Amino acid sequence: MSETIISIKNVSKHYSADLNAGVSDINLTINKGDFVAIVGESGSGKSTLLKLIYGTLAPNSGELTFNGEHIPGPHEKLIPGHDSMKMLSQDFNLNLYARVYENIESMLSNENVQEKKQKSLEIMELLGIGPLADKRIVELSGGEQQRVALAKAIITEPEVLLLDEPFSQLDAVLKTQFRADLRRLSNDLGITIIMVSHDPVDGLTLADKMFILKDGMLIESGEPAEVYNRPSHIYTARLLGNAFFLPSDEAKLMGIRSKSSTVMIYPEWVQLRNSWTSKQYEIEEIFFRGFYEDLLLERKGIEIHAVNTRPGMYKRGQKVQ
Ligand code: ADP
Ligand code: MG
Repeated sequence: MSETIISIKNVSKHYSADLNAGVSDINLTINKGDFVAIVGESGSGKSTLLKLIYGTLAPNSGELTFNGEHIPGPHEKLIPGHDSMKMLSQDFNLNLYARVYENIESMLSNENVQEKKQKSLEIMELLGIGPLADKRIVELSGGEQQRVALAKAIITEPEVLLLDEPFSQLDAVLKTQFRADLRRLSNDLGITIIMVSHDPVDGLTLADKMFILKDGMLIESGEPAEVYNRPSHIYTARLLGNAFFLPSDEAKLMGIRSKSSTVMIYPEWVQLRNSWTSKQYEIEEIFFRGFYEDLLLERKGIEIHAVNTRPGMYKRGQKVQ
């Protein structure tokens, strides 16, 4: 039986300036050790929800608990932010002219210097920044700085690590590395990670569970594969994949029978055939994506997408079934 670490009940937070902005009537629980992704388009309330969990924002109504205890808001604490959680901020919050190890060690007390050194070494090892220990932060690349910031966030062994758009500053290679780092932290340290992202791939790749936010409301949640394959909202399908939507009689041509008036299809579900008869769709555009092609197909003004995993196989203007 998994244990609940964070529970959110009927929580609303509206910024006084705009009654619609914020989050409305959120209900969710997060289990200990889970890697959770909060996904939604820009302005959907992701950061607001994260700040409510951390306690740097107070809800207008509802209740948030950590291990069954009320999460104090900013007016209830001298130093805002929950003691058992750490938020990795986008600005990294590093001392630029201090060395890497000094930045990391600064989080620990001086009571046991030997232990402090040892712990700092272990964390640097875990994140692959051991060789950088004596460098100053200004001498590091953005990706390296982010690792130091992460080391600093986890050295105090928080039970929950909060990440707000942690990948937004990184290029593709660093992004892949950092994703792997977070996975390892989650697996090796059993730390509960709550990550906010506008890029659904981050959530799909990393999370045990995804929460989908739209206009401040939690519209659905579940395991990534479950939410991806059986979304209950068009918004979710559009957000997570390159889904397209067809009237059901058009979908019938593809062999899909549905009682609904509209059918959602992901491009990778479409199989092309080079049949001799009834070539219904014309290839309008071919977008090369490296190991696959995204094909734009058209029939009587209706456009659909298909994934072709054998690039070079089709030509523009060709007809397929
Ligand atoms: P996200 O992180 O998903 O982009 P936010 O939680 O930052 O969304 O914001 C949700 C909504 O609340 C947005 O419409 C935003 O403009 C508004 N908002 C966020 N912070 C404030 C604030 N301090 N004052 C007023 N409105 C805010
Ligand atoms: Mg945000």
